[in-house]
Amino acid sequence: MTEQTGPLPVVAIVGRPNVGKSTLVNRFLGRRAAVVQDTPGVTRDRIAYEALWNGKRFTVVDTGGWDPRASGLGASITRQAEYAMKTADVIVFVVDSQVGATDTDLAAARILRRSDRPVILVANKVDDERSESNAAELWSLGLGEPQPVSALHGRASGDLLDLVLEAVPEAPREQEEEGGPRRVALVGRPNVGKSSLLNRLAKDERSVVDSVAGTTVDPVDSIVTLGGEEWRFVDTAGLRRKVNTASGMEYYASLRTEAAIQAAEVAVVLLAADEVVSEQDQRVITQVIEAGRALVIAFNKWDTLDEDRRHQLEREIERDLARVKWASRVNISALTGRGVDKLAQHLREALASWETRVPTAELNTYVRALVQETPPPARGGRAPKIKYLTQADVRPPRFVVFSTGFLEAGYRRFLERKLRERFGFHGTPIEISVKVRE
Ligand code: GDP
Ligand code: GDP
Repeated sequence: MTEQTGPLPVVAIVGRPNVGKSTLVNRFLGRRAAVVQDTPGVTRDRIAYEALWNGKRFTVVDTGGWDPRASGLGASITRQAEYAMKTADVIVFVVDSQVGATDTDLAAARILRRSDRPVILVANKVDDERSESNAAELWSLGLGEPQPVSALHGRASGDLLDLVLEAVPEAPREQEEEGGPRRVALVGRPNVGKSSLLNRLAKDERSVVDSVAGTTVDPVDSIVTLGGEEWRFVDTAGLRRKVNTASGMEYYASLRTEAAIQAAEVAVVLLAADEVVSEQDQRVITQVIEAGRALVIAFNKWDTLDEDRRHQLEREIERDLARVKWASRVNISALTGRGVDKLAQHLREALASWETRVPTAELNTYVRALVQETPPPARGGRAPKIKYLTQADVRPPRFVVFSTGFLEAGYRRFLERKLRERFGFHGTPIEISVKVRE
């Protein structure tokens, strides 16, 4: 075996649920390590495994995390694809050739076509020669030649591994460039005061224009100095160029919001303190959570509040924002400048939480005691046993619980609450998924 130094190349497996990702990972590993789980509601997470092929070592990342409760399928796969593009050296995109390309596959393909890393399109479940024509149809995804494979029977999986390793670039991927200003999305429904806040911040601002190939509108970011530090407010072009055409405005706004959130590490969701939290506000908050970004909620127009409204607002927050109790909260006025300076410390806090990694030993010591005191409830007679817990990822923190059985949503919420009580995570969503192992 040749000596391999430095980090191992990373191969990420991306695809819808049930296309056979875990089965393929098992093939790559040559043993049954990734648990194939058919129980609905059991989520699997991104788990990295070390694999060996033809004397070459590499890391396989199964991005299978798919939580039917948390978010739409589209959002989930978009996220997998984006995660893979940021972290992997080679991306293996798995499609079920028996089903053909679904809308979700097309959405993922659209993102993966932008990848600067090689993407290998796998047409899985080609169990025999007869089925090879199914594979050919996947040319339509625009990702080059589909590789017909049967992960279940091992058909052509060796060829696939050869191809994957050939595609590994000479130099392993650099870590995402660090050190630049942190990226902030300033989002919220129309008229909450986004442009006003940006203008207030803009006294120290420098605009940055990125040209992105293939787009007609170049996103413009603004570098803003706040709290003695530079911040990159992403995609602020849309805020300056107010699009006031009635039709399509909302659509445009929602696209802009999503793009900004995706480009950012932390989002400031601006709410108008003089109005109740609306459906539209809630949607923006949900977008941030689903994208897994750190979250600061800023109540703007604080200057308009009298004593009565302040009390009322407290009650509304209790009621309407209970699900994001963990968010970092700040009261500001873009008009007078009140509280705007405090924004920086909230951004820092949220980002620090977003990047927190709890050592495994500490995590398990804490959870073991917790579980002893409050064990998961029995379902159908037998109570599941929690064996072990690990933090699989940061940005945001993601935990994987290894358990002998399904953990109900109520118990997962209990775990989340307790993890937050103990470790903070103020300002960041956290995710808990369960891996069932007998
Ligand atoms: P994942 O959700 O993408 O990780 O999919 P799994 O690996 O859990 O597989 C989903 C289902 O498809 C399981 O029942 C597998 O046995 C089946 N499967 C996986 N690969 C193949 C294959 O090559 N051919 C056939 N016929 N079934 C497969
Ligand atoms: P955007 O649509 O979110 O960009 O909102 P704008 O920045 O255009 O603000 C909408 C309206 O709210 C404008 O009339 C602003 O003058 C007003 N506004 C913004 N921030 C404040 C604030 O802090 N206090 C008060 N009283 N009005 C504000």
